[in-house]
Amino acid sequence: MAVTHRTLAILDAIRLDLDRRISTEDRLIVEAWARAWAELRPAWSAAIDRLILIQQQGRKPTRREVSEALRATKAIVATQDAIIALAREQGIRISATLPDLTKAARRLEAEMLASTLPPNIPPGHALAGVTFDRVDPKALDAIVRRTARQVTALTWPLSREATAAMKSILIRGVALGMHPNAAAALMLDRVGLAFNGGLARAVVIARTEMLDAHRAATAAQDKANRDLLTGWQWVASLGPRTCPSCWAMHGTEHDIDEPGPIDHQQGRCARVPLTKSWRDLGIAIDEPASVVPDALTTFRAMPHADQLAALGADRLALLNGGRIGWSDLAAVRKTDGWRDSIVPTPLADLRALAAARR
Ligand SMILES: [Zn+2]
Repeated sequence: MAVTHRTLAILDAIRLDLDRRISTEDRLIVEAWARAWAELRPAWSAAIDRLILIQQQGRKPTRREVSEALRATKAIVATQDAIIALAREQGIRISATLPDLTKAARRLEAEMLASTLPPNIPPGHALAGVTFDRVDPKALDAIVRRTARQVTALTWPLSREATAAMKSILIRGVALGMHPNAAAALMLDRVGLAFNGGLARAVVIARTEMLDAHRAATAAQDKANRDLLTGWQWVASLGPRTCPSCWAMHGTEHDIDEPGPIDHQQGRCARVPLTKSWRDLGIAIDEPASVVPDALTTFRAMPHADQLAALGADRLALLNGGRIGWSDLAAVRKTDGWRDSIVPTPLADLRALAAARR
């Protein structure tokens, strides 16, 4: 049971390691999309110029004229191809980094497990000298393959979504009577922003899937050590920027076979292995208490401004008025094509809950 200061220090090391990997990937995606947009921009600019000519006749281009202009200038086809290529590149790049990421996860989880046991296990005990790195490498290979497939599947629709968003901006048009140069510049800006909406989604997918691969590798290591464990604990990094659901989930204990933490997209919560008591493992040494901070106590100890930043005024008022409970702040969300995740309970649901309890 003894989560020690060393355990939490390893957890910090894991977070730093993940942040480094994720920011590298972030940078590579942003660069790749910026290069692609630089190449696509002239085609969109040509299509927009055609449409502005129509606008100068004092009417908005029809849907059909927009489609024709995009086709004639090859803007739409080139963009679809470019985003598909970006998705493929991203899948390949992430796949290449995953073996190393899962290996690091596995090693650090083994270290974390060791940190919950006495530093000096009596010689002769079955656990003396054990490294707890017991996971089968095949399990990690499976995680790498699954994540690569998932990244590709999720990134694929971005091509259709981004080009549809870009096209709809041209259909909406800009105010008639604007100077043609200003109208063209404004439209090109808007189209560029829509393209970058695809980029933003691609970044979220990459981050989320890398974090999930990391968690899956950690879980596999825990399962390989199941004879020593009673389960795992959900641990958030607590602060004013931590979201309501992560605050509520922090410290909760889960079965060894329960996957997770099934955090929301881009969520950074971690699982910490809960070892059996030292006495149950046959080690006759008194065990220190767990050092995982209690969420509600930590929350209440924060300045009011920080509490407000974390929950927002409405949630905080409901909580302080005793109209909702701490655990009400987290809810399961079902998402098509993705795993269930735990997200902040929508405010409307919290209000309904409070009203029902009156
Ligand atoms: Zn969160």
